[in-house]
Amino acid sequence: MVGTGVAALNSILIKGAEPLEIAHKVQVVILDKTGTVTVGVPSVTQISLFLDRNNNSTFEKESLIEILTKFIALIGAAESNSQHPVARAVSSLVNVTIGNSYLQQVRLTQFVSAPGLGLSCSLQMETNSLQQNDSQNDSGLTHSIKIIANEGDKISANLFGVNVDFIKCQQQDSSWIINDERPLNLLVGNREWMKQHMVPLTPEMDMLMKRSEDSGCTVVAIAINGSLIGVVSAADQVKEEAALMISALLSRGLSVVLLTGDNSRTAKAVARKLGIQFVFSEVLPGHKASKIRELQSRNLVVAMVGDGVNDCPALAQADLGIAIANGSDVAMEAADVVLVRNDLLDVVAAIDLSSRTVRKIRLNFFLACVYNLIGIPIAAGLLLPWGIILSPWMGSAAMAASSLSVLFNSLSLKVYQKPTRKELEQIVDHRVSEQRGRNVLVHKVSEDLEYSVDVFDWIEKQAKGRWSDPVPSKVHWTKGQTPCDKVEMAPLV
Ligand code: ADP
Ligand code: MG
Repeated sequence: MVGTGVAALNSILIKGAEPLEIAHKVQVVILDKTGTVTVGVPSVTQISLFLDRNNNSTFEKESLIEILTKFIALIGAAESNSQHPVARAVSSLVNVTIGNSYLQQVRLTQFVSAPGLGLSCSLQMETNSLQQNDSQNDSGLTHSIKIIANEGDKISANLFGVNVDFIKCQQQDSSWIINDERPLNLLVGNREWMKQHMVPLTPEMDMLMKRSEDSGCTVVAIAINGSLIGVVSAADQVKEEAALMISALLSRGLSVVLLTGDNSRTAKAVARKLGIQFVFSEVLPGHKASKIRELQSRNLVVAMVGDGVNDCPALAQADLGIAIANGSDVAMEAADVVLVRNDLLDVVAAIDLSSRTVRKIRLNFFLACVYNLIGIPIAAGLLLPWGIILSPWMGSAAMAASSLSVLFNSLSLKVYQKPTRKELEQIVDHRVSEQRGRNVLVHKVSEDLEYSVDVFDWIEKQAKGRWSDPVPSKVHWTKGQTPCDKVEMAPLV
């Protein structure tokens, strides 16, 4: 009770004695990416539009502005129906660039949202609404877009700090550009979503996506009527205290894992920045809990830190579910611990407080045993041959002393102060996270079957202290059922 009270005083809400007791046994800490280790408010940094190189008139400045306006209006209309962080990034792009009035000109039907993948819908744009809007309203892109380079195959521009590339492609379907009222089938989402709708991706487009992903951006593809017309990259900032929390957990000998629905390259780039060595990427929201179950089946005690609705099953499945307070209400409901101040360092504090509380409980038990083991035999007359006998008042005094020592021992927890940032910085071994960040093991869940030798073995080894640094620099899971020890060595990509 004292422990949970002290935790509450330190802005950590622990729901009962059991989570407080489990926290110090945790061996693996799983961290959700978006909104947990990142701020969760991404902003669009790059737009790439693919245009037919044979249609010269599209590369006039006026045409490019019209195309970009239509593109932003279409994705803005679609994403205005979604709660995803990428959707919020697109909505704020609409706000600062073309303004929301454009969205009223778009009729949207058949909206489908696929968690962890993207969305699809049918859109109809009122004829010439964009030009009308542009002439009525000075918020059009004409004054704000700046063409910065025209390099033959690519025209680069800048729009309120967002890089916009118009890329000339061979046989690109540009029929969506034409202003008529035909409905357009729009898809917005990741590679898997495009694959499911059989949208082809040229090697050039794939390269472009990979480049953004490698820098840690979430990259979203946009297809109209079955062909890919553009790519939008959104960057989310890593929380400033995330790296320190991870170093502190690693210094305590815990294994830290990043779990995300995002692309493996993006996830890997974020993991590298933070010194996280293990990554489960491309995990559909419904599968997050099953990854935890798999770790638990290896007798590992697992904590999950998350913020979103998607994380609820995983928070409930974990031995210790930790929710960030500015996340969703359901996540807070599903979790055992709520970090009221949204400070990730409180994950370390919760584990630290748990260890101290359990140490106090053990000491209490020890003290009670000592009093009883010594007091009872003496009271029973064990030392009578030497003339030592315990009179009743001594027995009562010993009883009171026993209770008081237990009480004072417990209450001494009240003065507990969680480790400050400065203290953590002094105790953590940054070399550990630096080294781990250099060598990230990514498990692409979308390829579960293909890659059967997986990160699980390594997490288990590390969490159980059977495998420590130096980390094998070249670990590669081969296709098939190769046991971990016989894994073929090859560079990690
Ligand atoms: P995370 O686990 O990082 O929170 P999600 O499971 O929510 O990620 O989403 C995984 C991926 O699915 C995103 O990175 C994005 O590419 C795609 N996606 C999901 N919803 C949307 C949406 N509304 N708009 C665009 N892309 C989306
Ligand atoms: Mg999240």
